[in-house]
Amino acid sequence: MSERLADHTTTRVGGPARAWVTARTEAEALEAVRAADAAGDPLFVLGGGSNTLMADAGFDGTVVRLAFDGIEVLREDGGDVLVRVAAGHAWDEAVAWTVEQGLGGVEALSGIPGSAGATPVQNVGAYGADVSQVLVSLRAWDRQAPGGGAVVELGADELRFGYRDSIIKRSMVEGGAPSPRWIVLSIDLRLRRAAAGAEPTAPVRYAQLARALGVEEGSHATLRTVREQVLALRASKGMVWDEADRDTWSTGSYFTNPIVPAAVRASLPEGAPAFAAGTAEDGTELVKLSAAWLIDHAGFGKGFGLPDAEPREGDVDGRGPDGAGLAGGRASLSTKHTLAVTNRGDASTEDVLTIARAVRDGVKARYGVDLHHEPMIIGTAL
Ligand SMILES: Cc1cc2nc3c(=O)[nH]c(=O)nc-3n(C[C@H](O)[C@H](O)[C@H](O)COP(=O)(O)OP(=O)(O)OC[C@H]3O[C@@H](n4cnc5c(N)ncnc54)[C@H](O)[C@@H]3O)c2cc1C
Repeated sequence: MSERLADHTTTRVGGPARAWVTARTEAEALEAVRAADAAGDPLFVLGGGSNTLMADAGFDGTVVRLAFDGIEVLREDGGDVLVRVAAGHAWDEAVAWTVEQGLGGVEALSGIPGSAGATPVQNVGAYGADVSQVLVSLRAWDRQAPGGGAVVELGADELRFGYRDSIIKRSMVEGGAPSPRWIVLSIDLRLRRAAAGAEPTAPVRYAQLARALGVEEGSHATLRTVREQVLALRASKGMVWDEADRDTWSTGSYFTNPIVPAAVRASLPEGAPAFAAGTAEDGTELVKLSAAWLIDHAGFGKGFGLPDAEPREGDVDGRGPDGAGLAGGRASLSTKHTLAVTNRGDASTEDVLTIARAVRDGVKARYGVDLHHEPMIIGTAL
């Protein structure tokens, strides 16, 4: 039976899949992926749909939704605990489990929607943490292994993690493919158990979080309070998915923070935040800018939308034949955060992209800085 992506993505947009498989076990997932690849059928692998924008026309191929879950402790050595999480496990449920077990390492990544298997794809991160800090290795189906594919183990060093980046993501972006070369089956995380009798705590690596917790940045707080505070901060920004709150019908941050040569900073207004971001291969000093600041100061405040337009003859997927679609009130920036492009109730994918295009073009015109989108856009383009 076919399904609409709109029913399986957090932005609630996207057309139907030609074929749909819900894989409730790893074996079912492998069977579906192998069958699609053997038949040369385009494949899209879906977790929680929280970083996916699928075209309104849908997907002319097979969507395999990874719905198998499970958490197991593989090894415990002193305070180090190696935990395996199945790809289809809801990430935030896995985080809640680690906090209940008194295992430190992922508490600052509380409240990120989606599946555990997708976390290494863009090296998910928030509040001074990212998954590369704890991910030791993962098991994946390598679609390009000889003989039509094989299960492989990839260590963290092989994944070449970067800011919202990994080789898994690059295998899609660079290859222009709707699915990666490696389908993550499970991830192994190295977590930390507190000494017997001691309260489980974790270092707080983010100024705003430290302020909210009333501690110094770099000092420790209990896992439970970190999780609670992160969830509260995220909810105040519309960054915890909630069916009842349209500000969360999004892919979270639509744009990544631009990393640019330090010289670019000099052309921006004095208040523009910029953080050291290492050096490029040719030795150029780099800084990371705040996409939210650039968007806001380029004139796209919270709730930014575009005026409604009468539907015109020849419109395709909500966009006019001249390419100038108007999103009406159907899509807008979140009223809580300028980084999220949200569906207010009946937006199409093109409505969402129309808002995103206006923001991207406006920031470029005002500051000359290119904004890059974070979600995977399939079958259409920004
Ligand atoms: C309200 C909100 C807040 C968010 N906050 C954050 C945040 O703080 N930090 C952050 O980093 N992200 C954030 N996100 C983005 C998103 O939640 C993460 O990127 C998440 O990891 C995506 O998981 P998913 O299972 O929903 O991925 P999907 O949308 O299902 O898939 C995303 C991409 O990964 C691929 N993929 C999915 N599963 C696998 C797998 N097992 N193996 C290989 N490829 C796979 C898909 O093919 C697709 O290309 C937020 C999103 C929302 C809606």
